[in-house]
Amino acid sequence: MPRRPPIAELEAGIRDGARTSLSRAITLAESRRRDDRESAQELIARLLPATGGATRLGLTGVPGAGKSTAIEALGLWLIERGHTVAVLVIDPSSARTGGSILGDKTRMQKLSASEAFIRPTPSGGVLGGTARRTREAILLCEAAGFDVVLVETVGVGQSEVELAEIVDCVALLLVPGAGDELQGIKRGIVELADVVAVNKADGERVTLAKRAAADYRRALRLLPPSTPGWATPVLTMSAAEGTGLDDLWTQVTEHRAFLATDGGLARRRAAQLTRWFDALLEEAILERFAEGDGIPDAVATARAAVAAGELTVPKAVAEILARPAEG
Ligand code: GDP
Repeated sequence: MPRRPPIAELEAGIRDGARTSLSRAITLAESRRRDDRESAQELIARLLPATGGATRLGLTGVPGAGKSTAIEALGLWLIERGHTVAVLVIDPSSARTGGSILGDKTRMQKLSASEAFIRPTPSGGVLGGTARRTREAILLCEAAGFDVVLVETVGVGQSEVELAEIVDCVALLLVPGAGDELQGIKRGIVELADVVAVNKADGERVTLAKRAAADYRRALRLLPPSTPGWATPVLTMSAAEGTGLDDLWTQVTEHRAFLATDGGLARRRAAQLTRWFDALLEEAILERFAEGDGIPDAVATARAAVAAGELTVPKAVAEILARPAEG
């Protein structure tokens, strides 16, 4: 490991848009070491005034829906139009293997060779840890001057919920003809989407894709909108052929403009931050309490007594809370 550069040096590097500084800062924020994370917090606090400017777009969908193909196509399309693009990939495989989805180098090859910044976020073990790390990575990317931050996550239930908590706009990528067009609706994922895109609308699948899009449009009318007052658009696209990218981006910017009209973007971000604050505070309080003198034993004893029917649940909880606080 190269020695960690001083915070001021990292700060200057990031403000200059230096990729190596950005990478190192994200590594610091992801570190399991408390002192690293504290340094990262110090760095982020210094950079905070330079954050918030990017379009934070989340992309989700089942494996094989074409997310990485779409991000590559959209990323290159945006770069051609003068945008600066950072891609954060929430990588569920890395927790298990210690490697990364990007390790095989087959994903987003062209985008990797472009000026885009691509970075996998290991999903780690801690519940909510991925969201925290990705949030911090977004802020660091913004401070480094990227005006579009794309966050990719594999659709497996909890991850979309977390995604909706860290981006301004969630795009859901679907594939036609899987015979389960409405599956995302059953699982509540569609309700989190601000834009729905039926991908692989090419070759023989064009008609199928259009039909699927029409089905989704109808179904969405019956669901509560992800963003109040915003009618979630459903479009068709082909990430492989690069068609529909303009439509996708138009919808993303229109959603952003819609949010901006009445302070909705600031409200959405503020609501995300307060929910994060509440969750983190709860976690910290629980952690501190659980570490208290004699608490683990008391909890184990009470749990056994509850299971044996010797103590009622409310009484068991009250007894533990009534223990004198340890300093
Ligand atoms: P991910 O798992 O969601 O990231 O999906 P990938 O981007 O890896 O794509 C899965 C497969 O679908 C790959 O074989 C892609 O080449 C293919 N694919 C992705 N987008 C399209 C598309 O628009 N049209 C067609 N025909 N195939 C696509």
